[in-house]
Amino acid sequence: NKQVIFRGYIEGAPKETDMEIKISRIQLKAPKGSDSGAFLVKNLYLSCDPYMRGRMRSSFTSSYIPPFVPGQPVEGFGVSKVVDSDNPNFKPGDLVSGFTGWEEYSLIRKTEQLRKIQPDDHIPLSYHIGLLGMPGFTAYAGFHEVCSPKSGEYVFVSAASGAVGQLVGQLAKLHGCYVVGSAGSSQKVIFLWMNITFILDGIQQFVDLLKNKLGFDEAFNYNDETDLVAALKRCFPQGIDIYFDNVGGEMLDAALLNMRDHGRIAVCGMVSLHSYHDPQGIHNLFTLVTKRITMKGFLQSDYLHLYPRFLDYVISNYKQGKIVYVEDMNEGLENAPAAFVGLFSGKNVGKQVVRVACE
Ligand code: NDP
Repeated sequence: NKQVIFRGYIEGAPKETDMEIKISRIQLKAPKGSDSGAFLVKNLYLSCDPYMRGRMRSSFTSSYIPPFVPGQPVEGFGVSKVVDSDNPNFKPGDLVSGFTGWEEYSLIRKTEQLRKIQPDDHIPLSYHIGLLGMPGFTAYAGFHEVCSPKSGEYVFVSAASGAVGQLVGQLAKLHGCYVVGSAGSSQKVIFLWMNITFILDGIQQFVDLLKNKLGFDEAFNYNDETDLVAALKRCFPQGIDIYFDNVGGEMLDAALLNMRDHGRIAVCGMVSLHSYHDPQGIHNLFTLVTKRITMKGFLQSDYLHLYPRFLDYVISNYKQGKIVYVEDMNEGLENAPAAFVGLFSGKNVGKQVVRVACE
């Protein structure tokens, strides 16, 4: 059983060497009887998510999820197939998504957060850890529940080509908003604007998408800008009603100065801070007072009661071609550490996934 082992707690940005590949021997059987209810899965797709960085730090006391255990496989969301089972609810051949190990085969004992997947020829399996999984749900809950959007409002999304950001932008467009996204490379900016579905779903879909204006209205590469406040002013001469913040730091500071009265800031994540001991200071918080802005942090897990509604909405819009989703697929478990580390330098274009085995 090939595994990605977490070596030990770290400071600063994650490196590939914080993890190592090991091969261990396992029985390809679920333990029967005494360990009743366990089942063995073959992992097909693994998700790389920025929150996993928090689990690599022993002292991350404010984290909402416990740290990884040194010497054990990295843990994260995945799509897996049951191969042997002592659990009547999970039979060999069943497909599931939920927490699993970064390894070829995992023994699953906890099923509370596991979802059974009904295979659908029109929906790629890997979408269950992206568009239809935790990141997609984060976009849905964060945008609809935290941002209180109204049609016609001006929406700004950072890390806009990523797993969460790309869906926030599309949800905002479906809601009738004007949407601008920021990203860290011109390749990502072109994708935000022109829609990479051209490559994914064929020319017809691309043309339809452009006609229906499903791309972001505007996008900019923050690495090309010397002054983020001015860049946002250029994109939003009339100001920002909603900022969906995925990055924190300087971008948040610049957005604060560009908010309109009664604007809303949904604090989804601060990926720019994950890697540093000394978070960059925010200087413009007083704007919250002068412009009566609401700034609210949220965790997608607080809204899980909305999951069925989210699935209905996103699947229906996806099948009508009104929502698209872009993945960055790395092949092979041994490449998982590099894929994960790449999140923190913006290497991923779209949702970062690792394919471990064929379906
Ligand atoms: P992404 O797919 O967006 O990948 C991370 C991206 O962050 C990179 O591609 C890069 O994009 C950007 N980035 C990396 N380092 C920096 C930096 N130093 N400064 C600015 N941008 C940086 O990740 P997700 O969509 O999965 O996650 C987006 C955010 O949402 C994260 O902050 C994550 O922690 C948060 N999150 C919060 C949840 C919640 O419940 N609140 C649940 C899930 C995610 P670029 O090249 O464009 O800069």
